[in-house]
Amino acid sequence: MTLLTALQGDYGDSGDALRVDGRALSREELLGAATAVADRVAGAPGLAVLARPTVETVVAVVGGLLAGVPVVPLPPDSGPKERAHILRDSGAALLAHAAGDAVPADAGIAALPVDPAERSATTYAEPDAAATAFVLYTSGTTGAPKGAVLRRAAVGADLDALAEAWGWTAEDTLAHGLPLFHVHGLVLGVLGALRTGSRLVHTGRPTPSGYAASGGSLFFGVPTVWSRLAADPEAAGQLASARLLVSGSAPLPVPVFEKLAALTGHAPIERYGMTESLITVSTRADGERRPGSVGLPLTGVRTRLVGEDGEPVASDGESVGELQVAGPTLFSGYLNRPDADAEAWTADGWFRTGDVAVIGADGFHRIVGRASVDLIKSGGYRIGAGEVEAALRDHPAVADAAVVGAPDEDLGQAVVAYVIPDGPVTGDQLAAFVAERLSVHKRPRKVVLVPELPRNAMGKVLKKQLLAGSAG
Ligand code: ATP
Ligand code: MG
Repeated sequence: MTLLTALQGDYGDSGDALRVDGRALSREELLGAATAVADRVAGAPGLAVLARPTVETVVAVVGGLLAGVPVVPLPPDSGPKERAHILRDSGAALLAHAAGDAVPADAGIAALPVDPAERSATTYAEPDAAATAFVLYTSGTTGAPKGAVLRRAAVGADLDALAEAWGWTAEDTLAHGLPLFHVHGLVLGVLGALRTGSRLVHTGRPTPSGYAASGGSLFFGVPTVWSRLAADPEAAGQLASARLLVSGSAPLPVPVFEKLAALTGHAPIERYGMTESLITVSTRADGERRPGSVGLPLTGVRTRLVGEDGEPVASDGESVGELQVAGPTLFSGYLNRPDADAEAWTADGWFRTGDVAVIGADGFHRIVGRASVDLIKSGGYRIGAGEVEAALRDHPAVADAAVVGAPDEDLGQAVVAYVIPDGPVTGDQLAAFVAERLSVHKRPRKVVLVPELPRNAMGKVLKKQLLAGSAG
């Protein structure tokens, strides 16, 4: 389906199709207001959007897409340095914002206040499928955020693949409280709802009570959202009438999967992907949902495992390799980053995800972690940080854990664990607990008890930050 058809589809009486920041718009109101934005931005080289979770953000994004102008969501809390980088790098000429929003004085581009009460009925034609729909900046977990260029065809393919996988229709109400500058909440969430004609309820802050009160049938969340819900049985119980709970953007710990399933009666679906591409879902609406697995590639998406020597790695449920991807949902390159592109693409056109994975003979994928931080090379062994984290989480006095490979003269890298305790426990006890369950070389050399783990807006643990702290 083209992006324009996806956005403008007629789904009959849509009532309050969109509820964000406590305000509601029907589908007709949203499209009328977005068309008014399109009239003002048509022909611009790019439209940045100060992406607070507001009605105006959605109107501006849809307006840019209607006019065929590349849309650049700007994280609202980005500091002056990140903001300047994104605005300059993306080449956006206008910054859309809500009337009440303070536009940073240093933005340096023309501000475009958005009025959701405006209406226009101009018709726009679908641009070439290779035209840019979005420049989406990656989360910056492993380095400076990179501008991933998503063509209209890739976004259309994302939306088609999800609608098909989850049987997502106009009967659904999608509820989520995720940021609107990231692929998860914006492209998959907001545009997914428009593509299927379902209602969208943005809960504001993603709290358990907000999710419980939203009336959703389909819920999106990052693992932190689900772990908070799993700790709130009353709110979780109210999701029993939901259809699907979907986790994405970071690994969902198995204990959270199990608690959620017990409390809500729904085993969550895990979706794996990145700003650069949607990749897998832990199966379809009616398929098997296996804890600790991100499931099977979406329709049209192809994956393969490659070893450090460039040789294929067997899909045998045990062998570890870098996950590479090809298919219609893939982005088309990084903006102004020939270095990152050169690293990311193989000679035969596959994308190197930078993630390490295992694929079973049945095609189910398990993500071990990022090659750069989650694959620890210690004393000649290759140790997956996730495996050690999972073992630590099995201890009754552990609320959460993150494991890194700290530079070590003797071992190359040493396993260091950061643990949020949930009861009295010592580092030595935890190290011994891991050594008993896994092999001895996976035993953490150091366990640091911490009150919380550093995370970004998508709930991803900032391991670089932990590593920097582990140096002292
Ligand atoms: P940067 O590329 O700037 O370092 P980032 O990779 O965190 O940041 P995103 O595109 O937001 O930016 O995140 C994609 C990454 O998140 C994936 O490569 C993967 O490591 C991780 N991820 C996403 N979903 C899952 C999942 N279900 N399970 C495990 N990891 C996941
Ligand atoms: Mg990345």
